Amino acid sequence: MLTRAFGAHAADKPLEAIEIFRREPGANDVQIEIAYCGVCHSDLHTVRSEWAGTLYPCVPGHEIVGHVTAVGSAVDKFKVGDTVGVGCMVDSCQSCYACADGLEQYCEHGFTGTYNGKTPDAPGHTLGGYSQSITVRDKFVVKVSHPAEKLAAVAPLLCAGITLWSPLKHWNTGPGKKVGIVGIGGLGHMGVKLARALGAHVVAFTTSESKRQDAVALGAHEVVVSRNAEEMQAHANSFDLIVDTVAVSHDLNSFINLLKRDGTLTLVGAPEHPHPSPMVFPLIMKRRSIAGSTIGSIAETQEMLDFCAEHGIVSEIEMIKVQDIETAYARMLKSDVKYRFVIDSKTLAA
Ligand code: NAP
Ligand code: ZN
Repeated sequence: MLTRAFGAHAADKPLEAIEIFRREPGANDVQIEIAYCGVCHSDLHTVRSEWAGTLYPCVPGHEIVGHVTAVGSAVDKFKVGDTVGVGCMVDSCQSCYACADGLEQYCEHGFTGTYNGKTPDAPGHTLGGYSQSITVRDKFVVKVSHPAEKLAAVAPLLCAGITLWSPLKHWNTGPGKKVGIVGIGGLGHMGVKLARALGAHVVAFTTSESKRQDAVALGAHEVVVSRNAEEMQAHANSFDLIVDTVAVSHDLNSFINLLKRDGTLTLVGAPEHPHPSPMVFPLIMKRRSIAGSTIGSIAETQEMLDFCAEHGIVSEIEMIKVQDIETAYARMLKSDVKYRFVIDSKTLAA
């Protein structure tokens, strides 16, 4: 089936309307009409080939919500009309140690990304959610139980939400823990909301003075403008966990110094260029750790969505037409997003 999409033909070319192929649903497939798709910074990194290896045409988008339009004969978990989501993965080997542990995001063979992943479907690589429809293996589809009018604001949970939920849970965020979130963008604003809902004492770190009030409204108990050394120093040796979502290379030492003994700085931001190597002594003298984390499993994604539905948590969004995607990317590069752009997929028909 042909479907309308928005994608780029090269790293230096703008996104434009294109037609792409979607397979007819096989026995285990779910066909989804996409209602909304969030705009992640990874879309921008990929479409401009900042991480290298982007295959073209590139159709980004891995924060997908919509409705089931058809299911394969072996699918019993979903039916036509269900409200569902698809995040960053559409497949994995299902047999390695990671998949056996239910951690498909760490599949030993590499999970199949929702875009730029290998697939037998034309054109040989996956094409993402800036499109009218998508066909996905049932195991990689999750159920959305938020009220219908919140659907657009649910889309960013599928990447931004789960990418913060997974490390927050893994490092035991909860009452009695002090948790920092660095970078109040798409990922970071979800981190503040989720860490707060999980019961931690939450500190937001931003480079944007203008986000101070917003960060409190999002749920931060305290806000630190990270360019201000005195404000930073006031939190020295006090954090159990700091999650860093920043999309550009930067100094990590100033955050490592804020960890208490045995504290962890977890990197989820994936900049084009590496961070400068941090100092060794601040790590060894307090047994501090630097870690990384990628998205979250399908089971964790369902758990996070259900938690968010129960607690009334959604993303703060600005809805855009797909035709405005280049302007949205330009604003994202200026940290001028409050706090996630979401594409209204109806505009693909225009
Ligand atoms: P985003 O909306 O652009 O947010 C990034 C935030 O970083 C900005 O809003 C800004 O917050 C801060 N920032 C920007 N420039 C900065 C600078 N020069 N110095 C310090 N802080 C700066 O991006 P996003 O969609 O949240 O994605 C963030 C990163 O995570 C990207 O690299 C993305 O590819 C990556 N990512 C990783 C995973 C994973 O699985 N690990 C998943 C999704 C995305 P302030 O204005 O508050 O400073
Ligand atoms: Zn993403």
